[in-house]
Amino acid sequence: MGGGTGLRSRLDLKGVGNGSASDVYSRSKCRAAAKVGVRAKLLPLDCVNPVDVNAVTNRIDPEKDVDGLTRKSVGRLMRGELDPSLVPGTASACVELAKSVCGKEGLQGKHVVVVGRSRIVGSPTAALFLWHDATTTICHLKTQNLKDLCRLADVLVVGVGRPNFVRGKWVKPGAIVIDCGVNVEATERRRGKLVGDVHFEEAKHVAGHITPVPGGVGPVTVAVLIRNTFLRALLRRPKW
Ligand code: NAP
Repeated sequence: MGGGTGLRSRLDLKGVGNGSASDVYSRSKCRAAAKVGVRAKLLPLDCVNPVDVNAVTNRIDPEKDVDGLTRKSVGRLMRGELDPSLVPGTASACVELAKSVCGKEGLQGKHVVVVGRSRIVGSPTAALFLWHDATTTICHLKTQNLKDLCRLADVLVVGVGRPNFVRGKWVKPGAIVIDCGVNVEATERRRGKLVGDVHFEEAKHVAGHITPVPGGVGPVTVAVLIRNTFLRALLRRPKW
């Protein structure tokens, strides 16, 4: 994707606020982009005055929406019109990780429980599993019997932003556990320690497969984003 092919794409990252987990993610996106020759630019938005997130997001050209966040991309995903290069990276990462264990066909009929329903993690992830013929349950703050629902999951995906929230006892023996959480715990080290939303030390004894934090969903998400950027850039390459 670099100078060798003569193709260069531009990836503009916009951050609202200064959440440290989000900073970690933005930094790794920039590093990965630099590695493959994509020029990445971090453009933090105003974090003092209120910003209309919808208005900003929908200014992105849907044909360049490699994070899959515009109304058009979200609508397509919800309807099952899947263009992999326009699906949010974390959703694709979760499905790819699950497929790496049970294969594409293996997801059919599996019960996938997604804890969290945000635009960037929970909702698109549940939708993508649904269109891979899994049966999906989405949980949020008002969900009742959350632990019982988690215990029913063949694949448990967690994205709530609360360190060590899901305990080992919530996991069905042998389940695939995919931890999207990125939380920074204060330590004596300058940058703090990254921990997930799943209590890894407890859950690893029960789960069949479990993603660690750091080193699990995050790097796959970044890789998917770079792939999406490359695929969209290819489509925009002038045809001779
Ligand atoms: P978010 O926008 O704050 O959404 C959190 C979701 O979790 C909401 O839907 C919320 O429910 C739900 N939730 C919170 N507490 C809950 C509880 N006690 N019981 C049940 N549901 C609860 O956060 P996000 O942007 O989705 O991020 C979630 C985590 O993923 C964070 O740690 C973030 O850093 C990480 N993240 C990782 C990646 C990656 O690629 N690995 C990418 C983005 C974010 P309500 O909707 O009812 O409020």
